[in-house]
Amino acid sequence: MVPIETDSLDLDSSKKNHPLSGVECLTIKVGSALLVDPETGALRQQWLTDLAADIAVLKSKGMQILIVTSGAISLGRSILNLTNQTLPLPQIQAAASVGQVALSEAWRDALAPHNITTGQILLTPNITEERRSYINARATISTLLGLGAIPIINENDSVATSEIRYGDNDRLSARVASMIGADCLVLLSDVDGLYTARPESNIDAEHLPIVKNITPQIEAMAKGAASHLSRGGMTTKIDAAKIATQSGTSMIITNGTKSHPLTAIINGAKHTFFPAKRSPAAARKRWILGTLDVKGEIYIDAGASKALFSGKSLLPIGVTRVKGEFEHGDAVSIRGEQGNEIARGLAGMNKEEANLAKGKKSQTIIGMFGHMNRTELVHAYNLVLIATKE
Ligand code: GLU
Repeated sequence: MVPIETDSLDLDSSKKNHPLSGVECLTIKVGSALLVDPETGALRQQWLTDLAADIAVLKSKGMQILIVTSGAISLGRSILNLTNQTLPLPQIQAAASVGQVALSEAWRDALAPHNITTGQILLTPNITEERRSYINARATISTLLGLGAIPIINENDSVATSEIRYGDNDRLSARVASMIGADCLVLLSDVDGLYTARPESNIDAEHLPIVKNITPQIEAMAKGAASHLSRGGMTTKIDAAKIATQSGTSMIITNGTKSHPLTAIINGAKHTFFPAKRSPAAARKRWILGTLDVKGEIYIDAGASKALFSGKSLLPIGVTRVKGEFEHGDAVSIRGEQGNEIARGLAGMNKEEANLAKGKKSQTIIGMFGHMNRTELVHAYNLVLIATKE
């Protein structure tokens, strides 16, 4: 395949003073109204081609990129000829099922000319909120990113029931961004940000370029200033901003309807910026330290503790004793031979597996547990040091 020429794009993400400068991991949420022509139900092919070119440039500069994309239901409706305004849930879910195939193909085909591989991930709220599924989903997404692929994420609309749905990809994208510790989430929408009032009907409506705190006043503005095309409207975007900024992810709302919307942000297009409250690493650390019950204790030797202080993962070879009842994903306390707490982390194995693996070399462990291919007892990403190096 011939790579598409992207040199002409003025998308120098290393330029200072634009909202994407310094961003290493970016989540982009693409709304249905941008991808699918609301009149004809067809894919906006040229728009997607142009967005893919923007993405390829950012990726070539070393940025990790995740895409949360809507459009399955809209595409499926048009493929199945389900043109009625309101559809019963089973038909919506059937449309999502058919449309998701088309959606995934569209992303694959748009990014393939840039030699970018895509992987599909379909999520439901329980996956992003239950710890064990969360850890697993995050591991898959990180592995895809590590392999240089772009995860193409949507809600699993064809099986989700109304009780276990996000229903909008604004909040889903914020959960994904926080799950992966992205520094920035861009919501490509049909509005260029938050206004003090509905801009179509109020000439005094002012655009807010930055929202540092989501106050009740901001929430009230969001209720008034609805976006007419996107499913979630402004309220779910403000909910997304709360989730993202609290987890260390800054958020941008911008109008993505014109072509090359990421180039546009870098070149100063109108948007609302919600700065992160803390760094993703700090938020993660707080999450690991503060919100989880410690289910087990893992005692380690001096070699392993040295490895932890140099930022490495905890491998079973350095483990001398395992206590407590823990499952994969539970919080564990990592202690030195004298019982002093060195670190806390999320276990990559359950108690039985940890007991079997302790003291063993990684090569021996590979394949020992059938379903597992990870050999870390606690991966460095899931680990927070408590003690300081002596
Ligand atoms: N997940 C839905 C879809 O792919 C869209 C949700 C949204 O528009 O926010 O069709």
